[in-house]
Amino acid sequence: MARTAIVIGAGLGGLSAALALQRVGFEVEVYEKSQELKEVGAGIVLYPNAINVLRKLDVYDAVASAGSFGRHGKYMTPNGKVLVEMDLKDVGLEKEAIAIHRADLQHALVNKLGADKIHLGMPLTSFDDNGKVTARFPGGSFASGDLLVGADGLHSAVRKQYLKDGDPQFANCFAWRGVVTGEFEGLPSDSGLLILGSGLQFGAMRIGQGRVYWFGAVADKKGAGARTSKKDVLELFGNWTDPIPQLINATAQEALLTHDLYDRKPTFNWGKDGITLLGDAAHPMVPFMGQGGCQALEDSIALGASLKEASSIPIGLRKYENLRKARTANFVTQSRKAMKASMTSNPLIAAARDLVFSKMPPQVLMKNFHTLNSYDMPDLD
Ligand SMILES: Cc1cc2nc3c(=O)[nH]c(=O)nc-3n(C[C@H](O)[C@H](O)[C@H](O)COP(=O)(O)OP(=O)(O)OC[C@H]3O[C@@H](n4cnc5c(N)ncnc54)[C@H](O)[C@@H]3O)c2cc1C
Repeated sequence: MARTAIVIGAGLGGLSAALALQRVGFEVEVYEKSQELKEVGAGIVLYPNAINVLRKLDVYDAVASAGSFGRHGKYMTPNGKVLVEMDLKDVGLEKEAIAIHRADLQHALVNKLGADKIHLGMPLTSFDDNGKVTARFPGGSFASGDLLVGADGLHSAVRKQYLKDGDPQFANCFAWRGVVTGEFEGLPSDSGLLILGSGLQFGAMRIGQGRVYWFGAVADKKGAGARTSKKDVLELFGNWTDPIPQLINATAQEALLTHDLYDRKPTFNWGKDGITLLGDAAHPMVPFMGQGGCQALEDSIALGASLKEASSIPIGLRKYENLRKARTANFVTQSRKAMKASMTSNPLIAAARDLVFSKMPPQVLMKNFHTLNSYDMPDLD
């Protein structure tokens, strides 16, 4: 009889975990609290490690055709001075980062998994593990299986019940995000921009099908609060170099996303018996290395591969956790450091940062791509 898995959460992590488990022979059911699968608004960048995962899950072609390959990037100052310009070709890389609308990525994963495997409007309220795991939902409904994966994001209910370790920590920073369609000077089809100010940064990139994804990050201990309108974004970024004001102005108010940013100190306890955590539920990180989603994707491959030949579910789950804990902890810590360095509000430190970038050979900046590309992932087959 096929082994059965319950996945809580149909985000990037839950969907990719379900696909990996399906590939190694599990019957998988995904339970999602939202009433409909709508991955609102923004874009996401998938770095070389995530692209390797997409290949292993057989969704690379669908994702690559919907998104845009970033081949060319510029770091700039708010008044338009170019600090560094990079081309992946110069460092022997091509087609190594895909920027895509989250809805398109979700669509590709759901298509591969089968929409009938996803149960919507099912917020997990609790679980028990007595040899078999049982997930409980409102109204007395429940589901049983051989294992349960908590892929239910930053405020994970699985984590809350299992670890009881309180709320995630606010990073004293928030982000606005938007997606717009059109041509914008300085932003050709395969390029991206990162503009660094004092306690502020703005990024923009093409995400395929004529669209541009942008984000504006703000260091502020108070968080975003009620600053959720375009007027608020323009107040901080409206006088920055083109095409930033144009991108903000072209964004529909209802398409503007505002989120305070959080992470957690790494924990080395992700599960017990038939329960485990994955993605942001296990290792939320601030987005300054763009690795939160990429690491959730890596988790999924490690999960599937660890369970493939494990002599028991708990042994497979602990193997998965041991494969992932140190690597993801490192990204949590490095992402905090990247935030501190890139979001400094001290103008002297900001000037020093800009000087370092302007002197740094692009090959050194691109080292990260090589490192991410060379990460060795286990096989599912
Ligand atoms: C501003 C910003 C920019 C980012 N940019 C990038 C980037 O460029 N690249 C990158 O790799 N990462 C990026 N990230 C990080 C990335 O978005 C996350 O790491 C990723 O979405 C985590 O996926 P997940 O599936 O673990 O969690 P989520 O995407 O949060 O999914 C969790 C799912 O679980 C559901 N859920 C929650 N509670 C329950 C419950 N009780 N029962 C059932 N379902 C439940 C939720 O509705 C949701 O669908 C960014 C994050 C932010 C905030």
